[in-house]
Order: sequence, then structure tokens, then C-alpha cells
Amino acid sequence: MVLFPGPTKAETMRAMKRHRDQLVELLTNYGKIDMLCLDLALGLAPGRRKAKGECDSPIPQASRRLWTKSGNLDRMGEILREDAMKVLAIGAHPDDVEILCGGTLFRGKGKGDQVSICVLTDGSAGHKVIPPKELVKIRKREAEAAAKFLGAKLFWLGAKDEFLFDDEETRLKLAQVIRLAQPDLIISHSANDYHHDHQAGAKLAFSAGFIASLKHVKTGSPASNHGAYLYEMDTLTGIGFEPMEYVDISGSLANKLKMLSKHKSQVKWLKDHDGIDILEMVETQAKFRGYQAGVKYAEGFRLVQRWGSNPGKRVLP
Ligand SMILES: [Zn+2]
Repeated sequence: MVLFPGPTKAETMRAMKRHRDQLVELLTNYGKIDMLCLDLALGLAPGRRKAKGECDSPIPQASRRLWTKSGNLDRMGEILREDAMKVLAIGAHPDDVEILCGGTLFRGKGKGDQVSICVLTDGSAGHKVIPPKELVKIRKREAEAAAKFLGAKLFWLGAKDEFLFDDEETRLKLAQVIRLAQPDLIISHSANDYHHDHQAGAKLAFSAGFIASLKHVKTGSPASNHGAYLYEMDTLTGIGFEPMEYVDISGSLANKLKMLSKHKSQVKWLKDHDGIDILEMVETQAKFRGYQAGVKYAEGFRLVQRWGSNPGKRVLP
């Protein structure tokens, strides 16, 4: 079974050609899947050349369960949840999302989720030696490398580190990001976390998530047509945070740590400034949450319960 969006068309075709004797089912909620199916069918048919315009003709079935054809899954995609989602993870600083929900993002990605990350501040205060201007460039590069490693789109809001507020300007900027990312699920900070920027980030995710759907709020893009479910991620070391839901990240912890390692300047800064090995700390927290959840490693979350935006089903991967 292959979920789109997920592997590229070329990857799918290659794998299907290698294993013609197995069934493959393609699932998507994308309207253009019918053209993709036709392309794949033409690619599989030996000796057949595409007629001009043939790929532009939709095949008749345009429902969710679209097509069955000889081919192979070949671990190109995996489906554990019925629908793939668009996920937007919002972090105050360039490494927060990696630290607090990286394993969940990888898990969702493996199931076909389309993941975006929004970094709210520029990270300019996070070093003892490197001057702020230079540091912003380094931290943005690190965030880009981390997002690339995950396969996520990165939105860099650029608010001043240590001075993040839920003010009109920042709220509108984040609403614009939400309109571009069109998330079904937003993951952001706990309003109870240790850092003032994290607390402001929690407020911004709440407020911007709401106004993104209002037509009269102008941001440069049309209003989103639906609200996203909002989840808070864990606090640093879990202080004051009682998870309502857990995500088993036993299979994605290694990738989470690799993604976090892309923030080289921070791994060093946290050693210098706070005397901690952030990679070790993150693994320990995942193990602790794992004990709570009855798995090896886990991440914890809380649903932000709001009128009109409470899912009646499991949303996290
Ligand atoms: Zn932070």
C-alpha cells in the first residue's frame, strides 16, 4: 500500500517494476491521483509509449480507493492511519520542535503526513561567543538542514529571540504561515513551559490558528477553510506537564536525535551555558515518557480543547 503524498512518482514506478508480481494499492486524498495512476500504468506496460496528452486524461475512478495494479510496496510508504494529514509544528527557537516532537514528526512522515515546521524567533541570543547577526545565519542554516533531513518545509518567522510576543504583527505573520501550510494538525509549545518565548509561542499558535480562518483578517493569502486541531508538546524535562496522549517513537528516536544534531551550535551552547548534553537529555525524557506509555521511547502531548475543534478520533500518529 502506498500513500500519496509520500514517495515520488519515479520511486514508485521503479519499485513497482522491480516487483511486478505483488499487488499494490495507492491511496490518496489528492484530486490528481487519477493522472498519477495513469502515468504509472503506462510506465509499467512493456513496450508501450505514451501518446501525446494521454497522461492528462483522468481515469474514471476518482474515489479514495483508486487503483490496484501489479507492483510492490517495497517500504515506500506505510499506512496505519486512514488519512494522511498536513502537520505544522511551531517552535519558538530553531531546535525546539526537534527536541519536543521530532520523533512524532518522523512517525507521521512515515505514514505519509506532509510536515511543515515554523520557527518563530531568529535564535540570535543562543550563544556565548558568536555575535547575534552571524548566529542568526548559522541557526537558520542549521534549521534548514534539520528540516531537510526530516523532509519538511521550513517557515522562518524571524522574530527577535527572547522577545517573542503574541502581538498583532507576529500573530498575522503566523496566520499567514498557517494559511500557506493548511495544517489539519498544529503542534506547538505548552503554555506552561520554562521559557517565556515558549509560552508566547503557545499563545500565538492558539490565536493565529484561530484568525487564519477569518476572511476579514488580511495576511496576503486567502483564509483557511477549516480550523486545525491544536496539540501542546511536552515541556523541557516534562516539568508541570501531564500528557493526555503518547506517541511511540521507539522506531524514530534515532532520526530525532540525528535531526537535533543538525543544530551543532546549540548542542555546544547548551553544554557551555547550561552544562547539559541535550542529546542525552532528550533521550532520557523519551525513555521516561516511554515507561509511562509502556513502550521503549515516547513523546507526550496534550490536546488544547476548544469549542468546535475537538477531534472525536486519534489524530496523532
Ligand atoms: Zn526554545
